[in-house]
Formats: sequence, C-alpha cells, structure tokens
Amino acid sequence: MIRHLNCATLRPVYGTKIVAHCLLVERPEGLLLVDSGLGTADLADPKRLGRVWRSWMRPALDPAGTAAAQVVALGHDVGDVTDVVLTHLDLDHAGGVADFPHARVHVYDAELEAALHPRGKEHGRYLPVQWSEADWVTHRVPDDAEPWFGMDAVPTVGDDVLMVPLPGHSRGHVGVAVRDGERWVLHAGDAFYAAGELTDHTDCPRRLRAMQRILAVDDAQRVATADRLRTLVADHGDEVEVVCSHDRTQLESATADA
Ligand SMILES: [Zn+2]
Repeated sequence: MIRHLNCATLRPVYGTKIVAHCLLVERPEGLLLVDSGLGTADLADPKRLGRVWRSWMRPALDPAGTAAAQVVALGHDVGDVTDVVLTHLDLDHAGGVADFPHARVHVYDAELEAALHPRGKEHGRYLPVQWSEADWVTHRVPDDAEPWFGMDAVPTVGDDVLMVPLPGHSRGHVGVAVRDGERWVLHAGDAFYAAGELTDHTDCPRRLRAMQRILAVDDAQRVATADRLRTLVADHGDEVEVVCSHDRTQLESATADA
C-alpha cells in the first residue's frame, strides 16, 4: 500500500502554499519512504536551514508534520522504516533522513557527489548536517539497463522500486517509480512544480516558473526532462501516475483517493 504524506508545508514569498509530497510504502519487509521533507532537528532549530531559505520559503514549524511523526501516528515504529529513497538532496527533501537512523538511504550517485562536492550554483543548496550520518546506498543506471516505459531506470529496493533519472533540477535528480499492483506511481521530485505542466508546459504560475529556472543546475536538461514526462503521461498515463513534490492539489487528490 502506498500512502501520500506531506512532510513540509512551505509558504514561499512568491505566492501559493506548497507541500513536500512524500510516499510511504507499506511492504511486508518493512516501510519504505520516498523523499523525507524536513526533519525533527530542522523544525527544532530552523536557523540551520539558513536565513535566506527561511525568508523565501517560510516553512511551517509543526513537529507533527515530519515523516517520523506521521509514521508513528499511523501506528508504526520509526525503526520499521528500512529504506529511504530520495529524489535528490535539497534540504526540503533530505531533512527527514536523520529521523530514520536505522534505514538504508538510497540516492543517485551523481547527486551524492554534488552534495559532497558542490560546484558553482550548487553551493548552499545542500545541508550536510541533515545526512552526515546516513547509511548510503548509491545507484547508477548500468549500460545494460532494462528500460522502464522507454526510460532509463535502475532497481533500488527489489524490482518494484526504481530510480528513473530526471536530470536538470539538480546534478543527480531522479524520479522514484513504485509498483502499485498493476500500475506504477512515479514520484518525479522537482522535475516539475505544477500538475498542469504534465499536459501543457506553460501551465505553471509565472513566479514558480522563474524559481524552476533559477534553481535548475542545467535548465536545458530540466526542460527536456519535463518534455519526456509529458510524453510518458500521453503514452502511458493509464499505467503510470506521475506526482511531483510541491503541488498541493496533486497531494490533496492523492490523499482523497486513498
Ligand atoms: Zn524541492
């Protein structure tokens, strides 16, 4: 079973309230979390998120909003989370990692490399204190990879949880595809910001579009990735549900369906 959680609420100065959409996958072998939002230590000491980021993103500081608090509220133990799979390491996606010290933390190898050795505009976007103790498992698409709906992909935790490289936003940015019975959910991280972009590339509020460009480590790659996702949805939309991290309406409809 796949649950859709919001693990950070942000009220950016540029307008609409956004969320940090995470997936909690309940499997017989244990719980698996896709992305992790902000963590307990971030909310207890928001200064560590940096003055600029806080003043732009204005995070809610409710400790009940962390992934760990929601896992416990659902009747689980934090130690039941065996694996955390991250789309990338931006601080609003990787903050919850420290709340699951027993979990393996899966990341694409180029993303960990960027976070450990940032260059150019990558400086300042990562917060090593969030994941310095993580038990990393890195992944990379092998040359002989089995394509997934025509896209590059690499299995992470068994064959039902794949990383699908979606480059552009950050150096090693990926989507995480999770099998859900006959269908798949693709968590596309920050590959797009607004649900409407999946059918119409112009359907993103102007200021959000500016943020996408500013934050992208390679904007041409980001645009190509978004095009690729539109093709995926057009060709396989009945087999794959594509969600992103920050669109509040997508999270609301996913939780309403549950
Ligand atoms: Zn983000």
